[in-house]
Amino acid sequence: MTSGGGDGDSGGRVVVVGSLNVDSTSYVASFPEPGETIRAHGFQVALGGKGANQAVAAHVAGVPVEFIACVGDDASGAFARGTLERLGLPTGALRTVPDAPTGVAQITVADSGENTVIITGGANLALTPAVVDAVRDRVVAATIVLTQGELPAATIDRLAVVATELGTRFVLNLAPPAPVSAATLGAADPLVLNEHEARAVGIGADAPAGATLDEWRVLAASAAGGIARSVVVTLGAAGAVAADATDSWTAAAPQVPAVDTTGAGDGFTGTLAAGIAEGRSLPEALGIAVAAGALAVQTRGTVDSYAPRAIVLAAAG
Ligand code: ATP
Repeated sequence: MTSGGGDGDSGGRVVVVGSLNVDSTSYVASFPEPGETIRAHGFQVALGGKGANQAVAAHVAGVPVEFIACVGDDASGAFARGTLERLGLPTGALRTVPDAPTGVAQITVADSGENTVIITGGANLALTPAVVDAVRDRVVAATIVLTQGELPAATIDRLAVVATELGTRFVLNLAPPAPVSAATLGAADPLVLNEHEARAVGIGADAPAGATLDEWRVLAASAAGGIARSVVVTLGAAGAVAADATDSWTAAAPQVPAVDTTGAGDGFTGTLAAGIAEGRSLPEALGIAVAAGALAVQTRGTVDSYAPRAIVLAAAG
C-alpha cells in the first residue's frame, strides 16, 4: 500500500538510526506447539526490522527521511537496498558490512492476527557507537532522530548523547526493551512503548491486565517529565496514550477487522515521528499515528501495509 511520501513540503526531517532485517513470514492457522511441525497456508519474504519499518512509515507519512543502517554483503542486503529504493527512500546512508549476514526475522502470523518473531541481528550489530559519531552531521541536520531497542544498547546511549549535544529531538521506541541508561530514557521525547515494554521500564508495572486507556494515560503522565521527557504507550486494539510533563491524552483506535498486526507498532511510531517532525503537537501526532496503526492491521505484511498520507489523514479526521 506504500506510495508517495517524502515531498519535503513540511520542513521537518527525520533521521532513523536503526535495524534492518529481511522478514520471512509464514501464515498459519495457529501457532505450533514445541516439537510440532505444521503446514503454513502462505509465505512471503519482505523488508523488515524496526528501523526500516519506521523509516518507511515516516517516509509514507510525507516527511524527508534518511535511514542509517547496516546490511550484509549478501543477497538479502541487495534485496533490502532494492526494496528501499523502490519505496523511494535514499539508501546513501546504508552501510555494507563484509563479515556478517543481513539481519533476519522469522515471523509467524496466526489466523487470529497474532504473531511471533525470532530475530537474528547479523549486520545490525555492526551499528556501533562509532557509527553514531560518524553520522553526527546527519543528526545535526535532522528535526528528529528516531531509534529502536533492536540496536546495541551502547549505540542507543551514544545516539541520545549526540542528539542532546546537537539539539536534535530524540525519539526512542524501546522495542524490544534494551538495557539503555537512565539518561537515555530521560532524553527521550517521546519514549514510545507498547504495554509490555512500558511495564519493563517500570511504567504500569502493577497495572492490571486490561487496564483502560484512561488508566494508562494516568500512568504515562506519572512517568513523563521523570523517566522520560514525554511518554507514549500503545495499547493494541484499544489505541494509545501520551503524556508530557504538563498534560496527557488518550486516542482510542477505531474498531477494525485486524488481519495482521505485524509492524503496526512500527507504522504507528514512524507516523508519530513524522507528525512531530512536521511541527504537530504530541496529541495531534498521536491521533494520526493511531489512525495509521488501525489501517496497517487491516492489510498483510509490514512496510506494504502502511497507508499513504492522504488516506491516514482522512481516517484521522
Ligand atoms: P507490533 O509489535 O505487533 O507491531 P506493538 O505491540 O508494538 O505492535 P500495538 O500496541 O499492538 O503495538 O499497536 C500499535 C498501534 O496500532 C496501536 O496503538 C493502535 O493504534 C494500532 N492497532 C494495533 N492493533 C490494532 C487493532 N486490532 N485495531 C485497531 N488498531 C490497532
